[in-house]
Amino acid sequence: MNVPLLDLKLQYQTIKKEVEPKLLEIAESQMLILGKEVAQLEKDLAEYCGASYAVGVSSGTDALLIALMVLEIKAGDEVILPTYSFFATAGVVARVGATPVFVDSDPVTFNIDPKAVKAAVTDKTKAIIPVHLYGQCADMKPICDLAEELNLYVIEDCAQAIGCQYSDGSPVGSMGTIGCYSFYPTKNLGAFGDGGIVVTKDKAIGEKLMRARNHGMEPKYYHDFVGGNFRLDAMQAAVLNIKFPHLNDWHQARRDNADLYTKLFIDAGLATQEGVLEFDNNNKVRLPKAVYKESGHKNYHIYNQYVIHVENRDNLRKHLADNSIGSEIYYPVPFHKQGCFAYLNNDESAFPVADKLAAETIALPIFAELESDQIKCVFDTIAEFYKK
Ligand SMILES: *Cc1c(COP(=O)(O)O)cnc(C)c1O
Repeated sequence: MNVPLLDLKLQYQTIKKEVEPKLLEIAESQMLILGKEVAQLEKDLAEYCGASYAVGVSSGTDALLIALMVLEIKAGDEVILPTYSFFATAGVVARVGATPVFVDSDPVTFNIDPKAVKAAVTDKTKAIIPVHLYGQCADMKPICDLAEELNLYVIEDCAQAIGCQYSDGSPVGSMGTIGCYSFYPTKNLGAFGDGGIVVTKDKAIGEKLMRARNHGMEPKYYHDFVGGNFRLDAMQAAVLNIKFPHLNDWHQARRDNADLYTKLFIDAGLATQEGVLEFDNNNKVRLPKAVYKESGHKNYHIYNQYVIHVENRDNLRKHLADNSIGSEIYYPVPFHKQGCFAYLNNDESAFPVADKLAAETIALPIFAELESDQIKCVFDTIAEFYKK
């Protein structure tokens, strides 16, 4: 059975009837940038993300970049972030001239380790960027407490986590200073191209973000500070406005898919959900667990990716490919090993969890339209691999 990692065409079939006339309407109007579709999206997403202000921007990367620019983070400042994430999280910090300070990850959730954040603070630290990796909220309470105590900004990288909630029910993006989201097509809410949004509860920051996305201009042709062209297109916003009412159902379908994987693996005695880093004869696979050790509370995980930690990862990946099952490696090279960050002279051995996750995790198909017999096929193929 063929099981792709992701098939966007299936979702498109379900919304095509609404999308096609809307795109033609915008083509006829020739009102192509910002406008009422963007304003509608901003209104709905500010509410959905538990914020007061939302500003549509050109991508998730630009959402992070504009956040750093508006908070005036610059050369000489340090920004703490996980070494195990998508490149954009670190790239934007370097682009504003600040120093990215990498920290290790939590072995259970794969998210930034709050204790490592605390240990990395110096008197140059200006901000922390927790990433809600794969659709699960980072452990925000200790991070926000530390930020408040030391007067640091918290920029939430919510690119993979729109609609995800912390264990106290707070939506991601509502706990830090600014929340940054991506509408890249593979995210749970994806556009027909690039797009993103930033949200905040702070009035002054919200108004500054609004100006910053259009070169810091206000009034027309007057600039008190330098922004950029971070504008969102009307067509992207129109597609997102059509998709948005379906988002919670799509999240739930992914969560149901994750539950089915869990049941299959646990019933077969093949996997654990504990935070072990070493495998034995009974445990060849470690499944995602939407729980924080200390609190015991569940997070609302939206499974943008379903990433498992496995023994013998590279051979498993080949076995899956040989059986027409899609998979992906997120992210094989942590930031502390990237050539572009060699100038930081990081201690190569300082991030053991991230190194292990980079070498031993694999993402399986989880998209909303996946059929249960496809999930069973993925499971059977993995079970067969470990039986040999
Ligand atoms: C996708 C992603 C981004 C960047 O978003 P783009 O819209 O692709 O620019 C940033 N951070 C993380 C964690 C992401 O997954």
